[in-house]
Amino acid sequence: MTSLAGLADGVFAWIQPGGESGVSNAGVVVDDDGLTIIDTLMVRSQWEPFAAAVAELDLPVKRVLLTHAHIDHVGGTQAFRNAMVLGSPATSDLLDQPMPVDAYKAFMSAFAEEFDDLAELGTRPVSHIIDDAAQLTPRIELLPASGHTAGDVMALVADCDVLFAGDLCFFGVTPLAFQGDPATWADVLDAVADLADVIVPGHGPIGSATEVRELQAYLRHCVAGTIPPGPWDAWAERAERDPINIEKAAMLRTGDDGIPPSMLKAIGLS
Ligand SMILES: [Zn+2]
Repeated sequence: MTSLAGLADGVFAWIQPGGESGVSNAGVVVDDDGLTIIDTLMVRSQWEPFAAAVAELDLPVKRVLLTHAHIDHVGGTQAFRNAMVLGSPATSDLLDQPMPVDAYKAFMSAFAEEFDDLAELGTRPVSHIIDDAAQLTPRIELLPASGHTAGDVMALVADCDVLFAGDLCFFGVTPLAFQGDPATWADVLDAVADLADVIVPGHGPIGSATEVRELQAYLRHCVAGTIPPGPWDAWAERAERDPINIEKAAMLRTGDDGIPPSMLKAIGLS
């Protein structure tokens, strides 16, 4: 069973094993005024135990930071009803759209039965837009970026050298760039590798600069169009995601920012 893992004084990670589609990580940081939650998981069976563990800390939840708009990070916002919700402009725009429930069911069929509950509950809108780097609390620095999506935000806790990278980092799991830009993403990872010793990814186990460099090399191979043998041979979800990432990079080179046909197929739209 997943539990809150202490990374440093008042800094916790919630790491869901596997890290496949719909199975993401979250974090908690304690400041003097209360808690900041970093991402909220997806369906009730995931965020209820997380919210219960957070409640046991017995401190007010002041802030929810959404690293990006994907449903496996924003689905549990209703579990933290009194907190301000922080996200990028792109995250805010996406949360204002109707939830594409049928696509979620097709793409993450393991959770199909829980999406109706999620659709009924809905997600909370972003209340505070993050469009520039900012010191959110004495402990947390917000760092906007892009690459996985058009509006990624990372949270750096410099006093203990921990970075919550959101989906700019996938460790042990193949990244998914259907709404991103593999070339930009690979470039951004140069900075990410230097930000902190301990890196909490959006999916997979906690890692460090070593895993960031492996991810960067994989993404550069996607941009080049062929993926040679490498550490990624042990990653989950290669068969489905390699074609999506390669197609996306090739489409962007021709100026096409659309969803790759292989992704449309994966979500049941072709
Ligand atoms: Zn994502």
